Parts: sequence; C-alpha cells; structure tokens
Amino acid sequence: MISERECIKMIQDYAARQNSEYLVKGIGDDCAVIKKDESTHLLFTTDTLVEGVHFNLNWHSPYLLGRKCAAVNLSDIAAMGGQPKVCLLSVAFPQGVPSWFENFMAGFSGLLQDYDTLLVGGDTVKGFHGIVISVTIIGEADKKHICYRTGAEAGDMIWVTGPLGNAAAGLYLCQKSLDKPGGPEGEMQQLVKAHLDPEPLVGLGTVLAKSGLVKAMMDISDGLATDLAHLCSESGVGAEVKQEFLPVSQALKQVAAAKQIEPVDWILRGGEDYQLLFTAEPSGEQKLRQLTADHVGREIFIIGRIVAGKGVYLCDKDKRREISYQGYDHFQN
Ligand SMILES: [Mg+2]
Repeated sequence: MISERECIKMIQDYAARQNSEYLVKGIGDDCAVIKKDESTHLLFTTDTLVEGVHFNLNWHSPYLLGRKCAAVNLSDIAAMGGQPKVCLLSVAFPQGVPSWFENFMAGFSGLLQDYDTLLVGGDTVKGFHGIVISVTIIGEADKKHICYRTGAEAGDMIWVTGPLGNAAAGLYLCQKSLDKPGGPEGEMQQLVKAHLDPEPLVGLGTVLAKSGLVKAMMDISDGLATDLAHLCSESGVGAEVKQEFLPVSQALKQVAAAKQIEPVDWILRGGEDYQLLFTAEPSGEQKLRQLTADHVGREIFIIGRIVAGKGVYLCDKDKRREISYQGYDHFQN
C-alpha cells in the first residue's frame, strides 16, 4: 500500500506530462486554475464525501449533510480568493435513492443559492456499500487577485481566520453522544455545528485576496499541521507556529478538560475546520485586521512565522518539535 500523499504524487507526475496554454495551475493547490480571458481565470475544485468515512447519518441530518457537501467545495474556491459560479453533483446510491435525499437536496441547493452558485449537472449511479457524494464547483477570479499556496516567503506572518479544532471536537461529541438523545447542549453546540455545518468563507477569502497583502493562502481541511506543511512545501519554506498563539474556543477547552483530552491534538490534527490559512508580510498586519473587521466583522489571528528551510515546527516556550503532515491521511485513519 502507498500513502495518500504518494498517491497524489503519482497522479501529479502523470498530469505534469501535459502542457497547454490554458493551464495556469494544475494539481497542488486548492483549485486548478485555467485561463478564461485576458483578465479572468477559472477555478476548478472537486471533493468526494463517503458514508462511514466522511459522514455518519446517525448524527448528520441529510439537510446539513447537503449543506456540508456544498460548503467544503465552496471553501476551496474561497481559499483562492474566487467567486463560485457553477456546480456539478454526482451520487452513488448502494440500494436505490433513499427518501431523505430530498432533504439533502434542500440543504445542498440552499447553500449554493446563498453563494450565487448554479447547479448545472452531475450523475447518479448505483453504488456499493455506503453512499458516495462527489461535488465539483467551478468559480472565477480576477487573475491578479488569485492567491496560490506558492507565494510564502521567510519573514511572513502566518494567519488563520478563526478557532481551530472545533470541528474535530464536534465530531468527538457526536460520536460520544449517540446514547444521549438530543445531543450536547449550550456552548457545545458551537463545536457540533463546526463539524456538521461548516461555513465556507467566500466573502472573507475575496476581501483577503483583493487586499493585495496575502502572499499565499489555502483552506484548512486536513488539519493545520498537514495543511501548513503543504503550503510550506509549495512555497519552498518552513514555518514556526507558536502554541500560545493558536486560537482556541472556550467550548473546545471545556470539552477537552472534561474528557481529559489534550486539545492540541484536535487543534493541529483535527481537520475540517475550513478556516483560511494565509501568510503576509508583518507590515500588513494593521491593514489586514482593519479590512477583515470592516468587511466581514471578524477577528483574524497570527499564529507564527514563515522561516527559511523546511518543515513545520510547533514552539511551546523553549520546546520546538516538528509537526509536518501530522494530520489526516484519508487512507491511514
Ligand atoms: Mg483546500
């Protein structure tokens, strides 16, 4: 068996043998980028969610699952600073189409509508075992504003757009609360929502991209440790993350303390937070804070610094340890 990263590398090697004047960026970023005209590029992204691997219908309502299937793809368009435009949906059903699929579609198309994205086609097939849902979204962006993973340089500050680990803690709560009808209450709902109904940060991605201050950007889908390692490897740099700077919600701290779980595992390795991760020169700090507060009413967080060399390191007081790629490998977990 080979790892997921080795598999992606193999596909990448085959793709690298092609050459076209239309191809701006192939594999290796949140979206593939194709020339549309002199000033605009098209962005292509696809994501597949598998029952029992990415979702569990015991706690994921079909309506929210529909929203999530749209959100994770919209998030990749946001990560490049683009506007989503059209969507394709393909589903494999193992035993006919279940009656709840209408609720799925209500959630799915509702979220697409919220982001002015048209559902224009797809496919339905008979599957095997669980349901498999594959979504493709195509967006566009002004070519001078597109944020790739490749632009980070030593000295840049590393930013994230919100608390990390909430989705992983929410998944944990869903798994543990199966025997408690009604599920978790109060603040814990914030964590469960982060897992079941993530928000794609399309507006924020556009504001950041248009600022001209962002040098590299991606969304956090596989966990900070893995995704920051991807960004660093694409940019040919390393990173130092300060543990004390990592934004963590009160709710996550409470659950971690109550369950005696080390929260840093959820924060670094949890995945599915769909926050944006980006780098910018230190001189841009005030303007970035102002722009995001003014346009989307959001606080953003510096978590560390890009350094020369390679590898992602977590610094906690005088300790420094490498955390590169310690996230979700879809075939190993
Ligand atoms: Mg992504």
